[in-house]
Amino acid sequence: MKKIVVLGAGESGAGAAVLAKKKDFDVWVSDKSLIKDNYKALLNQYDIAWEEGEHSMDKILAADEVIKSPGIPDKAPVIQAIKEKNIPIISEIEFAARYTDAKMICITGSNGKTTTTMLTYHIMKQGGLNVGLAGNVGKSLALQVAESQHDYYVIELSSFQLDYMFDFRANVAVLLNITPDHLDRYHYNMQEYVDAKFRIIQNQTPQDAFVYWNDDPIIAKEIAKRDIVAQAFPFSLQRHDGIKAFIENNLLVINTPEQNFEIEQEALSLRGTHNMYNTMASAIAANIAHIKKDEIRRALGDFQGVEHRLERVLKVGGVSYINDSKATNVNSCWYALESMKTPLVLILGGTDKGNDYTEIEALVREKVHSLIFLGLDNEKLHAFFDGKVPNIRDARSMEEAVKQAAELAHDGDTVLLSPCCASFDLFNNYEDRGRQFKACVRAL
Ligand code: ADP
Repeated sequence: MKKIVVLGAGESGAGAAVLAKKKDFDVWVSDKSLIKDNYKALLNQYDIAWEEGEHSMDKILAADEVIKSPGIPDKAPVIQAIKEKNIPIISEIEFAARYTDAKMICITGSNGKTTTTMLTYHIMKQGGLNVGLAGNVGKSLALQVAESQHDYYVIELSSFQLDYMFDFRANVAVLLNITPDHLDRYHYNMQEYVDAKFRIIQNQTPQDAFVYWNDDPIIAKEIAKRDIVAQAFPFSLQRHDGIKAFIENNLLVINTPEQNFEIEQEALSLRGTHNMYNTMASAIAANIAHIKKDEIRRALGDFQGVEHRLERVLKVGGVSYINDSKATNVNSCWYALESMKTPLVLILGGTDKGNDYTEIEALVREKVHSLIFLGLDNEKLHAFFDGKVPNIRDARSMEEAVKQAAELAHDGDTVLLSPCCASFDLFNNYEDRGRQFKACVRAL
């Protein structure tokens, strides 16, 4: 019997193990950290053997194939050892896709993935399709393939998942943008990261669709180098030849071979330039899936937004508080700053991923009167921003950061948490950081 080892027992690993078991493989799960109780229960329910807190190398190296959770970096000794023995490593998405004929709508990019994935899923579900939500959001694709039957999946794909996808084919591939992110996992080599993102179109055929942001210089340069096999659906803020979605006279125009229609920007529930891109990408994807234009219009108007993404928290003493904790790189913070209309107190900092703050310097100088650095090590932030903004403070906890922000903010200002960094120095994850922010604001 073929031996499958699953490394990491979070949502993706536990789901992969269940599917492998259902497909009669000899499955074994190994997680170097402690496995959460709900995943242990799931593994036990399916009678799957597991270990936690260690990697037993003899068992791992006996695998015929390894399914790796996206959180485990290539430089981890366990991965190095597996590669040395030439044991194939795949991602959970690659594995799950072997066992379903559902149409795959896949979304990647440096920023906007979750928003676009949730919005696309929302439109397709409202449009009456039997659709599953998978990837970085919702239940793992593998678990859904194991336990339910969907005709479509909307899948958020990170570069880490794409790295270990080989034969997978996206029927619709959406590439939102490419800006530097996670370079620590790509030898600080931007081209390696770009190549990872472009794996989303590998194996596409002329029947498939490639939806992308036309004005992204990195995407444009890459497309010029490559042979694109799928039908192209570029979107842009401006109308040009071949553009399938654009903005004109305050209308969002969708102009694909499937349908041609317009939606007033006012009627869209998501705001801000970045969200226009996300909305265009979702509308095109839904259009390709033959959702009727009235359904698309309605769903774009009643979408609720996603927690921790430019989420309005409260107005306290004339000051608005916005939680953008998911802005874990510099580019997403740029879009947050760009969409702000009032003077700002900006809370940023955390675990730096090789950031270059030059990208936000002009907007910070223009809009931000106070910066609060929230992190264990703020040296790099000081080196870059000192002298460029009237007030700069350090904070070692969210409580301290929010208190200082409230002191520095004036009536009519906005306090924006948009950290540019990962959260792991002071928080469990970005959700924890965002929730602590909201709790501290509510306690003001
Ligand atoms: P991801 O899943 O790619 O991290 P999210 O939808 O969670 O993306 O959004 C993360 C952050 O990126 C948000 O806080 C928002 O400020 C910003 N953002 C969202 N969409 C875009 C976009 N299309 N381009 C640039 N920034 C964006």
